[in-house]
Amino acid sequence: MGKAVVLTPDNLSELRDALKQATPKSKILAGGTDLVMAIHKNRINPDILIDLSGVKELKYIKLEDNHLHIGAMATFTQIKESESVRKHALCLAESAVLVGSNQIRNAGTIGGNIGNASPAGDTIPALMALEARARIMNSSGQVEEKDLNEIITGSGKTSLGCDQVITEIIIPVLGDAYRSTFAKLGSRTAVTIARLNIALVMKYDDTANTISDVRVGLGAIGVKAFRDRRVEGILNGRKADEHLAEVFAEELSVTVQMAIPGRYSLPYKKEAIKGLARDAWRQLFSRLVI
Ligand SMILES: Cc1cc2nc3c(=O)[nH]c(=O)nc-3n(C[C@H](O)[C@H](O)[C@H](O)COP(=O)(O)OP(=O)(O)OC[C@H]3O[C@@H](n4cnc5c(N)ncnc54)[C@H](O)[C@@H]3O)c2cc1C
Repeated sequence: MGKAVVLTPDNLSELRDALKQATPKSKILAGGTDLVMAIHKNRINPDILIDLSGVKELKYIKLEDNHLHIGAMATFTQIKESESVRKHALCLAESAVLVGSNQIRNAGTIGGNIGNASPAGDTIPALMALEARARIMNSSGQVEEKDLNEIITGSGKTSLGCDQVITEIIIPVLGDAYRSTFAKLGSRTAVTIARLNIALVMKYDDTANTISDVRVGLGAIGVKAFRDRRVEGILNGRKADEHLAEVFAEELSVTVQMAIPGRYSLPYKKEAIKGLARDAWRQLFSRLVI
């Protein structure tokens, strides 16, 4: 860390100037929970660190035009405590609750969770299931929006250029008929990275007891989180009964089998996902009479 030049912009305009100096060896520094450890372990040796902690314009959560707008520097603690997030994107709040420890939740940011691109990053399956998009700014101040699948290209890899920074996450608000939840394998207290996580979003018709617009985000299965369109197709339009809960569990197990064939963790994960699927289903429907 000693050799890196640390730039400390105080606002977006200074951030743009800082990005102009960035090289492929430079790094954005948010909460530092991943990055500082990577530097200490000599896994990376950046020439320039662009520290976002002074850019207060990136630390907000607001509801506007039927969308949640979350600044990249919003922490897990802010996200889990936000009334708006709990009301309109519950699975994201639940994913933030289950992150690491208090210290990590207080320092770690949503922008850093995406930028880190860990296959086990907790907010990522939730954001994918919520059909979130990220706003990205470059050194000229140009802004573009991308979905997470475009940004995260592999384990620890993103498509972001060295002069680009995630500034905001935009999430379409779920309507009243929607339910969402997040489940993760592992204890709530242990400071560990999830080895399996699921975000589940769906529209529930309580008269017909049917579900539609089902969205399943999966993490820690393969190199990056993904939406399981196959399982979504199987669930769409069906009655939300105990039988379907079992179909969900069994089909997710098939997904694991297809995603990581031959991997040493396969026998464990294809069983573990069933329990996690049942947990998620129970959480989602515990408020309902089926
Ligand atoms: C003990 C411990 C426990 C943890 N537990 C969990 C857990 O349970 N769940 C989980 O998901 N994660 C966990 N993590 C990982 C980490 O806390 C998260 O990934 C966190 O979101 C990282 O955010 P940060 O602000 O600290 O990012 P940083 O460490 O500052 O940055 C991480 C990466 O993202 C890039 N980056 C940061 N912000 C931006 C931005 N705005 N635009 C573009 N790139 C950016 C950085 O350049 C860097 O490559 C844990 C980490 C530790 C050390």
